[in-house]
Amino acid sequence: MGTVAVRGLSKSFGKVQALDGVTLDIPDGSFFVVLGPSGAGKTTTLRAIAGLEKLDAGSVHLDGRDATGDSPAARDLAMVFQNYALYPRHTAYENIASPLRARRCSPSEIAAAVERMSSLLHIERLLQRRPAQLSGGEMQRVALARALVRQPRAFLMDEPLTNLDLKLRVEMRTELTRIHRSLGATFIYVTNDQVEALSMADQVAVLKEGKVQQVGTPAEVYERPANQWVAGFVGSPPIGLLACHAEGDRLVGEGWTLPRPRWTTAEDGRPLLLGLRAEDLSVEQRGDASLPGELYGLEPLGDRTVVDVRVGTQILKVKARTTVTGTPGERLLVTVDLDRAHLFDADTGLALS
Ligand code: ATP
Repeated sequence: MGTVAVRGLSKSFGKVQALDGVTLDIPDGSFFVVLGPSGAGKTTTLRAIAGLEKLDAGSVHLDGRDATGDSPAARDLAMVFQNYALYPRHTAYENIASPLRARRCSPSEIAAAVERMSSLLHIERLLQRRPAQLSGGEMQRVALARALVRQPRAFLMDEPLTNLDLKLRVEMRTELTRIHRSLGATFIYVTNDQVEALSMADQVAVLKEGKVQQVGTPAEVYERPANQWVAGFVGSPPIGLLACHAEGDRLVGEGWTLPRPRWTTAEDGRPLLLGLRAEDLSVEQRGDASLPGELYGLEPLGDRTVVDVRVGTQILKVKARTTVTGTPGERLLVTVDLDRAHLFDADTGLALS
């Protein structure tokens, strides 16, 4: 079993409140990602779960049992860090085997475990090499195999792909999700990279300034962000936000009006923000719901173009499937898919639905 729960974790370092009442339920066998910008409290959360951080308040529960007072070793969790250190004089095989030797496993058990993990990570042919004879990515795989060869209650991973180049990082994302599926173990994974989070997680917890903003599947967090901040943090290019208010059956902004979406309960006149993602906008099709704007800039991305359109004083990013040409200042209409738009209360930032 590998169920992990934390209740009301709080922790201050001097004047900095790193955690402010963090509560999370991490199901057994899930790939759970803690996502947030630098300084949000992700590492502190992970260290609290591992028993490496003395808390001001809150509790940690492992498989339903209160483990707040347990030592790190008694918790039976494996921590995987950004920087892996391999023993330089040992072969890859010896490096991977070392945690099992420390536990006095039998040679046949060790051989079977190393074989299984190396085949999972595709490093069988590297086992007799020493770290100096491996590339950075190969070293990372060996280090990962060494971390995974144990069978702890859960794996805690703190941005383990940060030091890899982009191509390898993308490869390792796929690899990690595959490894997770085949091990069936609980992974708790910390990152500030939303693409990494959305592509690997079963569940994502979004953290900001020590507070949980939202917990949900990647689709829920992306499609139904709980507040304006989550909407802005998750998604690339970032969501466009236009100031507006409701007036009868219309939404009225600076120099534009749109039909008021059926689903909104906002009262007339209250300051709102209309959130529009680049893929829910078009400059190629005509529709009933459109915003007048002018071309501000073009970002050709090979298979598509991101068109920056100025609406009033704000810039909206629009994903176009084809090559778009035009001169800055040219007038154009942005068609909006209102069923996929988001509305937030401008004062509280909370989503209105
Ligand atoms: P990053 O993505 O940059 O690693 P993070 O989300 O993991 O950030 P934490 O490392 O948990 O953030 O830090 C949360 C806050 O607590 C930060 O403001 C950080 O400066 C502060 N902090 C963390 N550890 C300590 C410490 N040992 N002493 C003082 N302040 C600390």
